Amino acid sequence: MPHIDQPSELLRNIKLKMDKAASLARRDDDIHLIAISKTREVEEIRPLLQAGHRIFGENRVQEAESKWPDLRTEFRDVKLHMVGQLQSNKAAQAVRLFDAIHSLDRVSLVKALAKEMKQQGRYIPCFLQVNIGEESQKGGCEIGNIADLLEKSKASGIPVAGLMCVPPTGVSPTPYFALLSQLAKTHGLRGLSMGMSGDFETAIKLGATHVRVGTALFGARD
Ligand SMILES: *Cc1c(COP(=O)(O)O)cnc(C)c1O
Repeated sequence: MPHIDQPSELLRNIKLKMDKAASLARRDDDIHLIAISKTREVEEIRPLLQAGHRIFGENRVQEAESKWPDLRTEFRDVKLHMVGQLQSNKAAQAVRLFDAIHSLDRVSLVKALAKEMKQQGRYIPCFLQVNIGEESQKGGCEIGNIADLLEKSKASGIPVAGLMCVPPTGVSPTPYFALLSQLAKTHGLRGLSMGMSGDFETAIKLGATHVRVGTALFGARD
């Protein structure tokens, strides 16, 4: 049989790389690894749970709802993060299902989420997603709108954890991570959700508190 990396091995490997990047950056704060399980079947996810991992990320409400309720009865301390674009009409489901949202990017969504948080008495931390490369096709608020979005979120009672970005592909992410980090400081926010399979070490060097890793844990997506 060919050698196949076990999920537990891949997990350990990523964590070692994270620790090394953190230590090179002289950081001793907690850096959270979010295993991005979008498109993965329950049976692909289970081995990571069995290896002790508990923080996962999905990008579709419906897909998350079909996969996670069962897994959660088995692994009760799972934390589920929403990392994909969120429609306002899915706010109720999202607030019920997720423990954090990384894609708060517009005032209409602030209103929808705030209403649901109040209704459900469940105030989950949100990251403001920033369109850091000013790409027309990408989600995220404009850099110039962060202050307004932050103020409206706070005024509505939404706990804002920090900023999130997905930098442009095909170029170095370094200046974008550095800019997001600077923007978080400017706005007095501590959380930085940045870095994926190809660049989480760079992100950690530049201050990431949450890295979102999919393919490096689960293999290539179809
Ligand atoms: C898919 C996805 C990731 C994970 O990407 P990989 O390259 O597979 O690690 C991270 N963040 C977001 C927002 C994603 O959609």
